[in-house]
Amino acid sequence: MNKLKNEANEFVDEIHSKFLDFKLSRTKDYGYLICEKCSGYYKLQKGESLEDFEACECGGKLKFKKKLDK
Ligand SMILES: [Zn+2]
Repeated sequence: MNKLKNEANEFVDEIHSKFLDFKLSRTKDYGYLICEKCSGYYKLQKGESLEDFEACECGGKLKFKKKLDK
């Protein structure tokens, strides 16, 4: 009985992660600007690029990154 329950949970987990992948792939990602000084980040919106931003609020240099490091 326990085994069956575990399998059912794994199945739900799989569906859940597929749903998350689907959601993520539908969210347009324009990349992030990461501050080298304070490690703060700003998520770029449509039409924005690194050139639109001179520096972080703290005065640190901004670096473009396609994805955030987890
Ligand atoms: Zn900063």
